[in-house]
Amino acid sequence: MSTEIDYLIVGAGFAGSVCARQLAEAGHRVLLIDRRPHIGGNAYDQRDAQGVLIHPYGPHIFHTNSKRVFEYLSRFTDWRFYEHRVLAQVGAQLLPIPINRSTINQLYGLSLSEDEVAGYLEQVRQPRDPIKTSEDVVLNSVGPDLCDKFFRGYTRKQWGLDLSELSAGVAARIPTRSNDDDRYFSDSFQFMPNEGYTRMFERMLDHPGIRVQLGCDFKDERQLHPQAHVVYTGPIDAYFEHCYGPLPYRSLRFEHQHLPETAQFQPVGTVNYPNDHDFTRITEFKHLSGEQHAGTSIVREYPTDEGDPYYPIPRPENEALFKRYEALAQAQTGVTFVGRLAQYRYYNMDQIVATALKAAEDLLEARA
Ligand code: FAD
Ligand code: UDP
Repeated sequence: MSTEIDYLIVGAGFAGSVCARQLAEAGHRVLLIDRRPHIGGNAYDQRDAQGVLIHPYGPHIFHTNSKRVFEYLSRFTDWRFYEHRVLAQVGAQLLPIPINRSTINQLYGLSLSEDEVAGYLEQVRQPRDPIKTSEDVVLNSVGPDLCDKFFRGYTRKQWGLDLSELSAGVAARIPTRSNDDDRYFSDSFQFMPNEGYTRMFERMLDHPGIRVQLGCDFKDERQLHPQAHVVYTGPIDAYFEHCYGPLPYRSLRFEHQHLPETAQFQPVGTVNYPNDHDFTRITEFKHLSGEQHAGTSIVREYPTDEGDPYYPIPRPENEALFKRYEALAQAQTGVTFVGRLAQYRYYNMDQIVATALKAAEDLLEARA
């Protein structure tokens, strides 16, 4: 392939890879770079030394209500049906989260029906209006006791902030149920890529119009392709050399462990630890992949401010700072900003796919 390119795409995660595929299919020559030594961004998976399929950057479970996104990704992978379930350790008990009928019954030693649980929640909730913060969300739906047992400690650990300091959208990710549904997500499509995310990305990027260059930083590459349109999926503040100061991101330290003598470590994919330990949760990967193995591999997530930026931190002052960077981004010609870090949005994978499809469509329309 000649070194001439039409698009330089920075970041080989969902945002960059979907854009690369769409632009290449429309006949453009794309160079996709990532500073990491692999494709897939944070959704990258690999086999550990013992052969268990793990997610080095934490558990990634695919779920969406978008038929379009599901069908698009289905071009690059088959799927395995998987509904994620999570238990929270509260005191000596392991209880379903999202809070549902059995959470309430087991926690308080009750045997309420669905209607009675709805009535119970109605009694204990503290109606809030308007709902602005994550504390408003949780108190408004389950009241102070359940808030303290399931949400306040977890949130403090995960974000280093109180629920009241975070925008409503953070806690609003977790529903409250009065029935027995114990699935973590209620989306209509809940599947894992059959051969893993990395294999799906390999197929997506397998196109004659796409060249992938890994271990390669944007700052070293941009001058080499002055004529190319840039699609940038890294942190937006880094693009502008933090000229307004750093945007806050939350990071994680992942502690991976293989247990050769343990066939199953825990009863479900993830156990959350809202009140004990420095880690927020433990995930056991075999639940996610359905694979058989004599031993098992798990990961503990320790939230931290240091390290790779994983989570934008949704709160009004950060949104205001982001808006300043966004204004700079909008004034740039020849650069498109797309992705969780470039748009500073707490997006799931499916939302990134949808956003990237739209961004590629807009680019193609603008060039038509
Ligand atoms: P990323 O995957 O972050 O890709 C950006 C890429 O850009 C990175 O690979 C980075 O190396 C590269 N890059 C940045 N700057 C440069 C530069 N200057 N030069 C070269 N390369 C650069 N979503 C779900 O739907 N379900 C889940 O269960 C789920 N679990 C998650 C668990 C954790 C712990 C985390 C952190 C996220 C989770 N997500 C989940 C969210 C999901 O990871 C993101 O929505 C998605 O991966 C974002 O894709 P992206 O392409 O925007 O960003
Ligand atoms: N959360 C909580 N307790 C839980 C699960 C979630 O307090 O047991 C809150 C917490 O603030 C968390 C947010 O809800 O950051 C979103 O949870 P989710 O599991 O969606 O987080 P992610 O998988 O994105 O880390």
